[in-house]
Amino acid sequence: MNAVTMRPIGIVKNSNTVTGEIPLWGQEKTVIEVFPGYEGALLRMEEHSHFWILSWFDKARRDLVSVRPERINPDIPEYGVFGIRTPARPNPIALSLVKLDKIERNKLYVIGFDAISDTYILDIKPYYEQDVIFSPRAPFLRPVQFQKRYDYMFKLAINQHQEDCLDLRLAIRMGLIAEQEFGKLNSPDLLLEVTGSRCLGDVLQGLSRARLSNPPRFSFTASNEQNKSIWSRGDKRLSIELKKASASRHNEISDTELFTITIT
Ligand SMILES: [Zn+2]
Repeated sequence: MNAVTMRPIGIVKNSNTVTGEIPLWGQEKTVIEVFPGYEGALLRMEEHSHFWILSWFDKARRDLVSVRPERINPDIPEYGVFGIRTPARPNPIALSLVKLDKIERNKLYVIGFDAISDTYILDIKPYYEQDVIFSPRAPFLRPVQFQKRYDYMFKLAINQHQEDCLDLRLAIRMGLIAEQEFGKLNSPDLLLEVTGSRCLGDVLQGLSRARLSNPPRFSFTASNEQNKSIWSRGDKRLSIELKKASASRHNEISDTELFTITIT
């Protein structure tokens, strides 16, 4: 078979050395040290906010062509490795989307990277606006643990809304309730009506990937009085309305203390 030779362009430096301990949705801060001779390749990088990082996960298994993503949910069926982002694959090239925090000489400080320390970097490419498919079709790989489901939705929400505001937190809570009832929120037959703040509408649109048309799934009415989302599929309808007085205590209270929830 033909061989391909690659020279790493940098190396990861962070405090994680165990692959299983990296948060599934990436780490707060990671440093990528770019090797001497490649500093010129960093020219004008700071004009972009996000990058794709291609790295070499040398500890991953290379003898598997299908896996069950047990870290997420042991009940998920087996997938061929080209249909899932498992590190196990014939060539363990990892693809990670990161946010650039800052560049200092040959060091890139990035947020959201999922590589352990001393991982080799093969390449870095900017994330373009035209890379975005707002509502792609994708299987429902729902994590078993609540915290993982929360973290996953938080990542979707912050990618969409770009600020961590109160309404973002409330929208995530609404999204988790809706997911419990309806399964995957980005599903072509799940409709969403939002009445409330623009932040709430924006985040819920991001979580559900509901578009205004083709298919028409989303509607929004701005209101200062109400914060409410209504999710429906066929005859089933779930209404989640914020009890205004509870909003500031959202971190400490249960769904039913925070919202009036009705299912019809
Ligand atoms: Zn906001």
